[in-house]
Amino acid sequence: MNKSLRKPVIAGNWKMNNNPAQAAALIEQLKPLVKDASCEVVACVPYIDLHAALKAAEGTNIQIGAQNCHWAASGAFTGEIPAAMLKELGVPYVIIGHSERRQYFGETDLTVRDRTRAALDAGLKVILCVGELKEQRLRNITAEVVRMQTKLALEGVTEKELENIVIAYEPVWAIGTGLTATPEQANEVNLLIRQLIAELYGKAAADKTVIQYGGSMNEKNAGELLAMPDIDGGLIGGASLAAEKFAAIVTATKQ
Ligand code: PEP
Repeated sequence: MNKSLRKPVIAGNWKMNNNPAQAAALIEQLKPLVKDASCEVVACVPYIDLHAALKAAEGTNIQIGAQNCHWAASGAFTGEIPAAMLKELGVPYVIIGHSERRQYFGETDLTVRDRTRAALDAGLKVILCVGELKEQRLRNITAEVVRMQTKLALEGVTEKELENIVIAYEPVWAIGTGLTATPEQANEVNLLIRQLIAELYGKAAADKTVIQYGGSMNEKNAGELLAMPDIDGGLIGGASLAAEKFAAIVTATKQ
């Protein structure tokens, strides 16, 4: 498959870190370091930071994302944020289905599907996270799990809408653990996701779909992961909190 058909996306997932002043400061630090990036650069920040981050990133190549959105447009959903409110604020990206949401907040494949639908309807770009647990890999059912998660999340998504979805393959055992999938392990799953996209939407759509790897990607291992034919960028947790480390990963897409 032709990698040049896809522009890599390097996205930071700041998780529950940085207050608005710290968010603005980190964006300021990042600006000069990533200004010549050949990939898309995204920082997914806590809701409370969105305003400050958008302001700090104005006029730059840094795009801002949220880390979740609700499936309903409004209503009695205490603590949740609808996709349209993010759009109104000027947020272009949202992460959906992160494994920490699945693990700690009862996110299921069907709520991931519904949140994805709402985000697309609001005009947001989605970073859709899928990935197997350690026990699932040990039982040799990674392919089945990842195919099911991806297929359900994409239920009802048209080929046109798929252009606004980045898929992040994130093996749960590699997130925040310092354990990284080998480039071959990561590429194998990214390829099977691409093959699923080809089954569902055809080869042309599969060739265009950006599929990231995420799971302890850092400035040291990014080069070899990003060199793999089916890895089109990364979703970065820990290393996205340090401007130099995140910028080094952005630079590693240039190879
Ligand atoms: C993530 O939060 O999506 C992630 C990949 O985290 P880390 O890079 O810290 O493993």
